[in-house]
Formats: sequence, structure tokens, C-alpha cells
Amino acid sequence: ALLIKDNCINCDMCEPECPNGAIYYGPEIYEIDPDLCTECVGHYDKPTCISVCPIDCIIDDPDHRESEEQLWDKFVLLHHA
Ligand code: SF4
Repeated sequence: ALLIKDNCINCDMCEPECPNGAIYYGPEIYEIDPDLCTECVGHYDKPTCISVCPIDCIIDDPDHRESEEQLWDKFVLLHHA
């Protein structure tokens, strides 16, 4: 999964672009639900939130590292279960 760093400026660019609905407005900044984030595997070649973020504050979540295969499994669970 991906992680939004706390220098997020709450510009709201990423939230509508997430194909998994994984981005939500948290107590202070936008956040990503790691259970829903497939890093855009199954949808796009690159994570679309990273593409649209104007300040590049979205990174790999060090606490939720997943293989390509695990991300595909999550995509299938989310969209074809
Ligand atoms: Fe925050 Fe970047 Fe999302 Fe804008 S696009 S809300 S700066 S994470």
C-alpha cells in the first residue's frame, strides 16, 4: 500500500482519482486505507495518486509492503469477489 506523508496540503487532487476508493480525508490530512490500496495494480501502470499529487508526498508505506502478486490478489478480492 501507499502512504500520504504529513506534508500533504489537502489539495484534494488524489481522492477522486483513486480507483479503489482508498483515499479519505482523515483528522488532519488525506489518508490511504491500506486494506483498499492496490497501488493501482489492476487499474493503471503507475499509482494514479502519485501521478496527480502536486507535491510528491505519497510514498510506499513502510508498514504495508506487498509484492505484485499480493496486490493482484487484493485487486481480485476487491473487485471480483
Ligand atoms: Fe495531499 Fe498530495 Fe493528495 Fe493533494 S494530491 S491531497 S497534497 S496527498
